Amino acid sequence: MTLTVTILGATGSIGRSTTDLLAQHGERFRVGAVVGGKDAAALAKLARETGASFAALADESAGPALREALSGSGIAHGAGESAVLDAVGRDADIVVAAISGAAGLKPTHAALRLGRTVALANKESLVCAGDAFMRDAKRYDAKLLPVDSEHNALAQALGEGLVSDVAKMTITASGGPFRTWARERIEAASPAEAAAHPTWSMGMKINIDSASLMNKGLELIEAHHLFSIEPERLDVIVHPQSIVHGLVYWLDGAVTAGLAMPDMRVPIAHCLGLGDRLTIARGRPLDLAAAGSLTFEAADEARFPCLRIARAALSEGGAAPTVMNAANEIAVAAFIAGRIPFYGIADLVERACTRFAATYASAPADVDEALAIDAHVRAWSAEALPVSRAAE
Ligand code: NAD
Ligand code: MG
Repeated sequence: MTLTVTILGATGSIGRSTTDLLAQHGERFRVGAVVGGKDAAALAKLARETGASFAALADESAGPALREALSGSGIAHGAGESAVLDAVGRDADIVVAAISGAAGLKPTHAALRLGRTVALANKESLVCAGDAFMRDAKRYDAKLLPVDSEHNALAQALGEGLVSDVAKMTITASGGPFRTWARERIEAASPAEAAAHPTWSMGMKINIDSASLMNKGLELIEAHHLFSIEPERLDVIVHPQSIVHGLVYWLDGAVTAGLAMPDMRVPIAHCLGLGDRLTIARGRPLDLAAAGSLTFEAADEARFPCLRIARAALSEGGAAPTVMNAANEIAVAAFIAGRIPFYGIADLVERACTRFAATYASAPADVDEALAIDAHVRAWSAEALPVSRAAE
């Protein structure tokens, strides 16, 4: 039987790793709908290459360009939010949710409501509305499979084991490009320096989050929801080689860990395989002798305050992670645009968390509420940014 796979965020880094795997296993999979943000040419090319049945762009104004680029292909298409939801509604056995940021919430949730098996890369869904997502996955009998490498490793290390038998779960961080840098040097770092990830190749936003360690903070929140485990039993360790991705410490002292080369196709293949193991052509096998040594060190929350802020938001619970994520998305965009220095990210995020702690104390009941909080905090954060140099 051929399985139909729909890809949300198909033109991105995770999307492309996914289509690479699907092409390698053409006898097993066919591509259903593909969804992108605003790049009509890239989405049309991808849709033609993969033989997708439907292509949707989130940006409505790019509709005419998409129509033009797909003319003669026979591929149905659309643009705007309704087209994205139309794509999600099309028949699929697996939906890969790989839109970046809070923009992924609605389409990912729509897939859950249809009871789809969702391979989840969009961690923001769980960060912004984790309670609602986990509740609705159960309610609509949808499976959530973790694509994020650390969580995928944890799921594999946990196996059929019980979370009640777990003493703690640890996710690893590469430490990012600034792992060994002094605070003063990090303070003056450029966006290009922050985006130069040492081990993984990823989209721009997650690259910056990896440099600030906010990505690890988001992942702690993601793990809390996915495995239904309290913040006190979750931690982070820095592991520059990115070979061990997640560790499960059991009550009896045994530890099981998930290891793999830093290649996102490994966790994606685990999700797409639905219990079968898929081979990965052109994947480099893990060679521990060649790696030589695996090293570990504690994360430094003084140089990487975003990790401390995210931990606090996780402990705080309620809507604190939703607020934090919104402010972080605005701050990261401002950093990329050269409007604020690197530590300006942590500064803005912390100010937003303080400002909204009382306003948004309880967890969003549903995706709409999470998105309303997200919109409010984004607007506030944009106002709170320094006036752009160009406008001065
Ligand atoms: P990316 O920026 O490379 O790709 C994002 C994709 O989303 C693109 O196809 C883009 O066109 C699309 N998109 C953007 N805005 C959209 C919108 N409003 N509506 C519809 N589509 C939109 O990002 P990425 O690195 O592939 O990351 C995707 C998600 O996966 C993120 O949530 C990220 O945290 C998570 N993730 C990524 C990696 C990785 O290695 N890249 C690892 C773990 C988790
Ligand atoms: Mg990860």
